[in-house]
Amino acid sequence: MQKLLQQPVIGGEGTARVCQMGNVDVSAKTGTTSKQYDLWLCGFTPYYTAATWFGYDKNEEVNTYGGSPATLIWANVMKAVHAELPDKRFVQPSNVVSARICRVSGKCATGACTNTYTEYFVEGAVPGACEGHNKFTICSESKKIATEFCPHTETAYGNVMPEKEANANGKWRTKSGTKYSAITEKCDIHKEDKSKKEEDNKNGNENKTVITNTDVKVPNVTGKTESEAKSALGSLKVTVNYVNISDAKKNGIVASQSIPANSVVSKEAQITINVYKYVFPANNTNNANNSGNTGNSGIGGGDNKKPENNVTTQSTPKQN
Ligand SMILES: [Zn+2]
Ligand SMILES: [Zn+2]
Repeated sequence: MQKLLQQPVIGGEGTARVCQMGNVDVSAKTGTTSKQYDLWLCGFTPYYTAATWFGYDKNEEVNTYGGSPATLIWANVMKAVHAELPDKRFVQPSNVVSARICRVSGKCATGACTNTYTEYFVEGAVPGACEGHNKFTICSESKKIATEFCPHTETAYGNVMPEKEANANGKWRTKSGTKYSAITEKCDIHKEDKSKKEEDNKNGNENKTVITNTDVKVPNVTGKTESEAKSALGSLKVTVNYVNISDAKKNGIVASQSIPANSVVSKEAQITINVYKYVFPANNTNNANNSGNTGNSGIGGGDNKKPENNVTTQSTPKQN
């Protein structure tokens, strides 16, 4: 909530930017009734909380040319109150995690999402991985999904219809409409050897489930460690997305998986797992060392100078 309410203060389009106080964090929200009869500014800093109201005893429209009077009063009083106080930042609670979010789908960004920003969540409320933007390994020759027999492969990106929309029978649609560009066809140039196939058939078991020998059932890996998850996922192509957390105990635990457990997918399918990654809690009482700051916190868009919480989202696995 603190983070959310810093938006009106530091956000590029913020309605309470006048409340900014150098090195003391401010969270604030403006309020207005219809016809601008009443104006509020409710806000807090690590030191004080204050609320101002501006209006007339008998309802009259308040002229807000030059800014809301409620906001200006709050800013002037609070700046005076804080003038002699040392710098202070909000401390992030240990159950708050940050995650890189895909701006198009609103879900956890994967390595294939290009338009992303950082959002804060209570632990456990981090959305699943974006299913809309996928990376594909394609055959360099046919430009279709590569099989294990393709000699040269490359990476391609495409938009996949999210499962929710695919199963909605046309009743529900995303803004993206039908502009999906997922590559679904498998390479038809490089196929399995015939001889091998016959041998497989000879030795083949009498398994009559719909699962063919190119499909696998996705196991549940949420709650497991990263390495347990990777080995459980077997032949699937695993992308690891790290979700920053300040609780060291959850470090390395899988928070969510992009393909739900028990789904039947092709052996080579892409799956993204979100893994909690411990980062030292941001406690910016001085501005000295914030070497890890990537400056892309997404919050507010502007003001890169402020020593924000370190945001590092990596999509490459670190451990084996
Ligand atoms: Zn996406
Ligand atoms: Zn091929």
